[in-house]
Amino acid sequence: MDAKKAMEHIDKKIAEIAELRKSDLKAALNIAHETLELSKEVNYPEAESILLQQLGVIYAYLNNTAKSIEYTLAAIPLLELYNQEYYLCYAYCALGCMFSNYSYYETAFDYFNKSNYIAKKYQFTDRLSISYNNIGEIYKLLSNYDKALYYYQKSYEEDQKTGFKSCMGTYFVNMADVYYLLGDHAKAKEFAETALEKVKEFNFERALCEVYRIFALIYWKLENPEKAMEYFFKAIDVADKTMAYDLKIDLLIYYHQFMMEQNNHDVAVKALTEAYEYASSENYHEKSILICHHFTMFYEKTGDFESARNYYKLYIMHNQEQSKERLKQIRDGIELRIKTEYIRQQSEVDVLTGIPNRRKFNEKLEDEWKLAAKNSRPLSLIMIDIDCFKEFNDNYGHPEGDKCLVAIAKLMNDILSNKYFLSRYGGDEFMAILPDTTLDQAKNVAESIRKAVMDAKICHKFSTVSFYVTVTQGVATLIPDETKSINDFIRMVDNALYDAKRKGRNMVSCLI
Ligand code: GH3
Ligand code: MG
Repeated sequence: MDAKKAMEHIDKKIAEIAELRKSDLKAALNIAHETLELSKEVNYPEAESILLQQLGVIYAYLNNTAKSIEYTLAAIPLLELYNQEYYLCYAYCALGCMFSNYSYYETAFDYFNKSNYIAKKYQFTDRLSISYNNIGEIYKLLSNYDKALYYYQKSYEEDQKTGFKSCMGTYFVNMADVYYLLGDHAKAKEFAETALEKVKEFNFERALCEVYRIFALIYWKLENPEKAMEYFFKAIDVADKTMAYDLKIDLLIYYHQFMMEQNNHDVAVKALTEAYEYASSENYHEKSILICHHFTMFYEKTGDFESARNYYKLYIMHNQEQSKERLKQIRDGIELRIKTEYIRQQSEVDVLTGIPNRRKFNEKLEDEWKLAAKNSRPLSLIMIDIDCFKEFNDNYGHPEGDKCLVAIAKLMNDILSNKYFLSRYGGDEFMAILPDTTLDQAKNVAESIRKAVMDAKICHKFSTVSFYVTVTQGVATLIPDETKSINDFIRMVDNALYDAKRKGRNMVSCLI
C-alpha cells in the first residue's frame, strides 16, 4: 500500500471506530490499536494523535481508568502539535471526567472550561453540549440543583443545534431527575415523558434504564404502587440487558425500600440480598455500606438482633474498605494532577530553546489584549527574524544552526524576560509582547536587541548583511478596542518586519 492509500485507509478506520464505539467496544478497541500501529509505520502522526485519544475514550468506557489516562495523556501533546483542535477539546473533556471521578471537582472544572474554550472558538457544538452536561452532573452531585439546572439548560441549547445527537436526550433525563430530587413530581413526570421518547429514538439503553427508575420513584411517591412496580421491573430488565450493574444495585435498593413500605418483607429482603451479591462481587463499597445499613435496620425492626449485629460488622468492614479506596483515589488524583501539570508545562515550551512556544504566545497575547483594552493602554509587539539563516544552516550545518537559535533566544530573553514576554514563533522567528509600552519605547527595546545580537559576534561569513549573525525586526503598537483584531495586529507587525527585510535587514521598522 502506498503512503497516500494507507492514509486514506487510516482515515476511514478512524471514522469506523467512532461508529463502532457505540455498539461494540471490544471491536473498536482492536481496530484502534491496529490502526495506531499502521499510523506509526507510515508516519502519519496526525492520525496517531487522534487514535491515542480515541483509545483513551474506549478504555474509559471499558472502565479501565489507568489505560484511559495513559492514552489520553499521550495524545494531548501530539494533538496540540498537530492542531487537532476537535480531539484536543474531546481530550480535555475526558480529563475533566477523570478528575470528577476522583472527586477533584475544581480541577475537573478547569478542564471542562478548557474544552469549552476550544469548543466555542471553533464552534464544536456537540462538544460544548457534552461538556456543559458534565458540569451540570458535578453540581448535581454537590446537591447544587440550581446550578445543575442552569448547565443542563446550556447543554440543551447547544444539543438542540445538533438535533440532540450529542447528548441523545440526556438533558430530559437529568431534568426529570433533578426535579424529582427537588420534590416537584409533576415537573419530573413531564420531563421523564419527553426523556422516554428521546432516549428510545436514540436507542440509548443506559439512559432508558434511568428514565424507568425515575418513573418508578415518581409513581411510588404519587402512591400508585402498581405503576411503580411496573417501572421497577422495566428498569431492572434494561439494567440486566445492558449489564449496568451499578444501576441494577441502586434499583434493587430502591425496590427494597419500596417493598418495605408495602409491608412485603420477603420480597424486600430478597431484593437487598441480590443487591448485596452484585455490590460485593463488583467491589462497590459505597453501595455495600448502604445495603448493610438497610439490612441492619431491617433485622433490628424484625427483632433478629443476631443478624443485625452481623450486618453491622459487615457495614464497618465495608466502611474501612471504602476509606482505603478513597485514599487510593486521592493518591491517583494527585498523580494525575502532577502528570497533567507536566504536560501543560511541556506543551507551552519550545523544546529547542526552552522559551515559550507559539501556542503559549497566542494565549498570552489574548490575555494582554484584553487587559490593554480594559485599561486603554498601548500594547506593542516585536517580531524578530534571523537574517540569512538558511545560508547559516546550509554552510555550518543544522546542529550549528540549532546552537545559534539557542544562543539568540537566550540573549534576547536576558534582555526581555523581566518585563516582557518572549516566545519562539516558528523556525527562525521570535515574537515579543510588550504590555503597557509605547511605540517609541518598543523601538528602543528592539534597537537594544539588534545591538546585543551584533555584539554577540556569532560568525556568519555567508550572510549578505555582515560577518556576524544579525536580526531584523518589525514593531507594531496599538491601543486595543473592539474595532481592532489580534489578527490585524499580527499582520501589522509582520508587514513591518517584511518592510525592514526589504530595506536591507539588520534593522528595526514600524509602519504607521
Ligand atoms: P531572511 O534573511 O529573509 O530571513 O532569510 P532566511 O534564510 O533567514 O529565511 P528563510 O525563511 O528562507 O529560512 C529560515 C531557515 O531557518 C530555514 C530553516 O532551515 C531554518 N530553520 C527553521 N527552524 C530551524 C531549527 O529548528 N533549527 C535549525 N537549525 N534551522 C531551522
Ligand atoms: Mg530569517
